[in-house]
Amino acid sequence: MTGITVLAGGVGGARFTRGLLAHLAAEHPSAGGEASTVPVTVVVNTGDDMWLTGLRICPDLDTVMYTLGGGISEEQGWGRADETRRTSGEIAAYGAGWDWFTLGDLDLGTHIVRTDLLRSGRTLSEATEVLAQRWRPGARLLPMSDDPVETHVRLAADIDEHRAGDLIHFEEWWVRYRAAAAASEFVQVGLEQAQAAPGVLEAIRDADVVIIPPSNPVVSVGTILAVPGVRAALRDTDARVVGVSPIIGGSVVRGMADRCLDIVGVESTALGVGRYYGSRADGGILDAWLVDETDAGLIPDLEAAGIRASAHPLWMHDVPATAAIAAHALRAARATHPIALDRPTVQNIGGTL
Ligand code: GDP
Ligand code: CA
Repeated sequence: MTGITVLAGGVGGARFTRGLLAHLAAEHPSAGGEASTVPVTVVVNTGDDMWLTGLRICPDLDTVMYTLGGGISEEQGWGRADETRRTSGEIAAYGAGWDWFTLGDLDLGTHIVRTDLLRSGRTLSEATEVLAQRWRPGARLLPMSDDPVETHVRLAADIDEHRAGDLIHFEEWWVRYRAAAAASEFVQVGLEQAQAAPGVLEAIRDADVVIIPPSNPVVSVGTILAVPGVRAALRDTDARVVGVSPIIGGSVVRGMADRCLDIVGVESTALGVGRYYGSRADGGILDAWLVDETDAGLIPDLEAAGIRASAHPLWMHDVPATAAIAAHALRAARATHPIALDRPTVQNIGGTL
């Protein structure tokens, strides 16, 4: 078995992957029993990345790395546990930085090391590998691209010092304006010239299963899909592609992803997002789509749109509940592709996903 590839944003993608790794460790334990024998690659959105006070900040990569490495603040879902804010206070005392984006002291350590690596000529993939040596996330973390890509938001009305029509960084719109400032479109600056980072397209093409976790469909998954070559790799791969709905009962569970869906004209339901991704048979990306059990009534409409769907509890309350979701996703993959996943291999003797 060549492995599983997850296309992730921040909090939703990170939590899902943690559950996936727990499921695999239980089902396919390595000799020591701690990890699994199934390789997992996480391709992470870098469209939220930005420069702040001279440092390169990669919010989704850090959320995934801290979550899988055990350093995440569980209450926030992002940032470090046991964090302090003394350095931000000092930066603010100089009238510098952005008061709406706080960088914790421990988190700053990550940004300083990353920025130092980038300035010494390493790529973001290489810098990520160095950071991951400390956190041992149990999965290979790949930025979607080593080229800088930034999602910007076009404002539809004046707000503060910004005029209608201006482009502002997605994080400013999301964090400073809580996604409430009227906006007309997302513009992914740098994306057309960007190349997928080394290993990304291969990780999609060579996987047994590709999972679209419950991440923001527009600015996390949508940005990864827009990296040149990614959609073609998803079209050509022999892997089954399984998505997990980030919308439960018409609500986004956590956060404000519905604001992003509004802007691209997609209704915030498991049906709307399922159709937005589309069936692979019709030029979309999904072979199978998991919706929450409360959304089981949407399955006939999804199937009418050519999307094979099944209903399961999709709340990622804790690691065991999330591991169960991952198990359903792998079962859904197997249901659409019995041959490749059931073949015994050296690493996966007689087992099934
Ligand atoms: P971000 O980069 O931190 O915004 O994180 P993601 O791109 O991974 O997307 C977060 C999305 O995950 C949220 O907008 C929710 O729609 C979804 N989500 C969060 N918690 C849950 C959960 O428990 N279950 C499901 N199904 N979706 C969730
Ligand atoms: Ca994000």
